[in-house]
Amino acid sequence: ETSLDIAAIRKDFPILNREVNGQPLVYLDNAATSQTPQQVIDVIVDYYHNYNANIHRGVHRLSQEATDVYEEARKKIQKHFNIAKSHEVIFTSGTTHGINLVATGFTSFLKKGDEVLVSAMEHHSNIVPWQMLCERTGAQLKVIPMNLDGELVMEEYQSLLCENTKLVFCNHVSNALGTINPIKEIIDAAHEVGAAVLIDGAQAAAHIKPDLQALDVDFYTVSAHKMCGPTGVGMLYGKEEWLKKLPPYQGGGEMIAEVTFEKTTYADLPHKFEAGTPNICGGIAFGAALDYMNHLGFDAISQYEDELIQYATAQLLAIDGLKIYGTAKHKTSVISFNIEGIHPYDIGTILDKLGIAVRTGHHCAQPIMDFYKIPGTVRASFSFYNTKEEVDKLVEGVKRAKSMLQ
Ligand code: PMP
Repeated sequence: ETSLDIAAIRKDFPILNREVNGQPLVYLDNAATSQTPQQVIDVIVDYYHNYNANIHRGVHRLSQEATDVYEEARKKIQKHFNIAKSHEVIFTSGTTHGINLVATGFTSFLKKGDEVLVSAMEHHSNIVPWQMLCERTGAQLKVIPMNLDGELVMEEYQSLLCENTKLVFCNHVSNALGTINPIKEIIDAAHEVGAAVLIDGAQAAAHIKPDLQALDVDFYTVSAHKMCGPTGVGMLYGKEEWLKKLPPYQGGGEMIAEVTFEKTTYADLPHKFEAGTPNICGGIAFGAALDYMNHLGFDAISQYEDELIQYATAQLLAIDGLKIYGTAKHKTSVISFNIEGIHPYDIGTILDKLGIAVRTGHHCAQPIMDFYKIPGTVRASFSFYNTKEEVDKLVEGVKRAKSMLQ
């Protein structure tokens, strides 16, 4: 039994009180975006009520206050992910931005004959920027295959690695299948051949608290909106040596040391990668979201979420004709499924009528759907504020959809 007081936690999330189609909302689309607790909403309101100002450039009081709180948030992020130096924390607009920053930066480091490895279970945001990089440089993109359980085939990965491998990209947790990938093994093996590794932590960070120094990863990206924070803000971690080598991504204010029409010199880290006015309030709220989740504790969160998905998995599998995609030994928070002969979209539509929010489709991971030869799945994804009663409603809803559609 969980140590978390789920009923009390649910009161922190105002949106969980609303109704959809006359039914209490059952929100099971947490892998797409998580809900926001009042504690974080209060921080956002406080910012706009009391100290909204541009940062890093003002002598006036409001600007100083905003700068201080924003930089405190950077330190909270640093501490949470156990990052050695606060200037290795780059504020981004989210995972997609972080990945594009690195992929663009690597353009001058790659040449024809180099190889880039990407896992078979990536989100499109961790495929397309690398394809674009390969098109620019002539490097070759190779795929680390997965098995039917949705696990990477590590022997194949080992045999793909060679002295031409320059970069490896992989998600920590798959958003479509819930697989937790063996990233420490992936990172260590890549380093053996001198390749850099970027781990996409977008789907992991709400469930697992990664120790980035222990992982020895080169780059790690997250989005705040998947972990109780607002949209439009995230973090890119990069090892200092890499961030020094990489060229700036965007030019603009904030990222310069000195500008003349003859030559511009760039600011030190992290500002070199933070051109323009950032999402100040978002960064501050990201820090507040980490405070909120750490107050609950990631051990308690992941333990309770595991209970929920085990409970849900057993009940769903009892439904005749229901198949779950993603049966890895190590998985978290996501159940992707189909019922024989029924299109996932039709199930999702009936669930919506019952107030149950799930996602249907390819989940921005078309290669996974091609692998299983399916058009998409129904995906229920869980957070610590979900309950077993909500799982029961999902299961009832799926049964009802099945009897209506078959
Ligand atoms: N990678 C994974 C594994 C994701 O789940 C997502 C969001 N669905 C992304 C990347 C992209 O994140 P964002 O849209 O916040 O940039």
